[in-house]
Amino acid sequence: MEIQVLEARSSKGYRKKVCAYCRVSTDALEQENSLENQIAYYENLIQSNPEYEYAGVYYDFAISGYKEKRPGLQKMLTDARNGKIDLIYTKSVSRFARNTAIVLKASRELKELNVGIFFELQNINTLSSQGELMLTILAAFAQAESESGSIGAKMVYQRKYEQGIPVQYLERCFGYTKNEKGEFVPDTEQAKWIVKIYEMVAEGYSLSAIADEMNAAGVKTDKGAGWVESTVKRILENEIYKGDYIMHKNYVNEERKLVRNRGEVDAWYIEDDHPPIVSRQLWDKAQEARKKKRDYLDMDCQIREVTEENYPYKGRLFCAKCGSPLTHRIYSNGNRMSWDCSGRRRHGKDFCTGIHVPDTAVRQWKFDGNIYISIKDSRKSIKEFSYTKESSWSRRHKKKEFVREVPEFTEENYPYYRSIFCAECGSRLVRHIKKHGDIVWECNGRKRKGATYCEGVRIPDRVVQAFMPIRKAIYIKERKGRNGTKHYSYSCKKPERATRKEQG
Ligand SMILES: [Zn+2]
Ligand SMILES: [Zn+2]
Repeated sequence: MEIQVLEARSSKGYRKKVCAYCRVSTDALEQENSLENQIAYYENLIQSNPEYEYAGVYYDFAISGYKEKRPGLQKMLTDARNGKIDLIYTKSVSRFARNTAIVLKASRELKELNVGIFFELQNINTLSSQGELMLTILAAFAQAESESGSIGAKMVYQRKYEQGIPVQYLERCFGYTKNEKGEFVPDTEQAKWIVKIYEMVAEGYSLSAIADEMNAAGVKTDKGAGWVESTVKRILENEIYKGDYIMHKNYVNEERKLVRNRGEVDAWYIEDDHPPIVSRQLWDKAQEARKKKRDYLDMDCQIREVTEENYPYKGRLFCAKCGSPLTHRIYSNGNRMSWDCSGRRRHGKDFCTGIHVPDTAVRQWKFDGNIYISIKDSRKSIKEFSYTKESSWSRRHKKKEFVREVPEFTEENYPYYRSIFCAECGSRLVRHIKKHGDIVWECNGRKRKGATYCEGVRIPDRVVQAFMPIRKAIYIKERKGRNGTKHYSYSCKKPERATRKEQG
């Protein structure tokens, strides 16, 4: 029996049909990009590869200022649909088209036909897995361009892209340096501190305790500043330290600033993007410790109107350090409440280092009468408190008296005293010394002629000082905001009432 051997239609022996696409500048000065040069270059490049079959060079003329018509590109797409092309060579994304959306549309359509585009500068084939990532990035460019009309973002990204720098690595952060490719590489010295931060949090230390530790060790942030709670918090929330990366966590806005992405552009989470500094176990442990603290603070923390009915201990809590009453404070966007030393709040930390008791803690205590609260000296996140009755506290302590030294009434101490006036009646503001030596400036009109003459203004000296330096006379107005807060504003315009008086 004769066996006919059929040659397998394997990829072996099959040569890919490869073409090139270029945009040719009509600018005569750009000799190296002339059409002849480019055709010669691609012809040579493709024909020198034995696996390739030369399928020609397609091109369009790039005429600046005109809406681009692209007969070359259209022809190439038609030929690709007809199976005449397997792979397209092109210089780079920006040389393919000025508008990223065009590149993206063409790449996607070709990809469906299983035709790849090879971008030489980026060294990426759209059919490869890297190419998939690149198309994603291109989609983001296109979206950013169309949504914000942002030429700035496009320019910054594309310039980076042209230089072969992955765009996701525009950002910098403490703990990492970058290699010549722009990839994150752990910085040995800083990485030690990152690990330490995560370990301390996992052990229950508070963010402020960690910030203190960093400052005491003389470590500076990547911006060369000292550490505060929020810098530590940002480090703990950054997945970069476990080796992951969120592309487009930040993006470049119209003002060419790198800003936080709040849904303006798509973001992608990339796992194992670069070498981690903290293990996934440690990262999780730290997050658990933080969650534990949040849960503790969230416990029964529905905030009601602050009345004695809702908070029977209101007015009965005191600071054991200075004896001042604790007053409530609502924070974390209205989600949490605490009782804080009013002495520190009013007179500063020289007077009392303060005390801050979460309302959730007070709720669990059983007591009647006034109590004096102290805090166990600990740097852990979840604090321990103890409290004593007023009688036993008073036996051992005395309430601290705050007396501020009042600066003498001289022009040197109050250089503005002649230029501040009431915006309502135009009267001069005069100095008044309150209990404890706090200084306020009050409308002299009201003071002398009563509330029917002028409702008056009372402004703390520190606010006046914040308005300075001012060279002209200013007229100050006081407004009551919600929650009894006061706002002050000033203008250089004399009130009408005062002007009329002068004329009359
Ligand atoms: Zn206090
Ligand atoms: Zn007045």
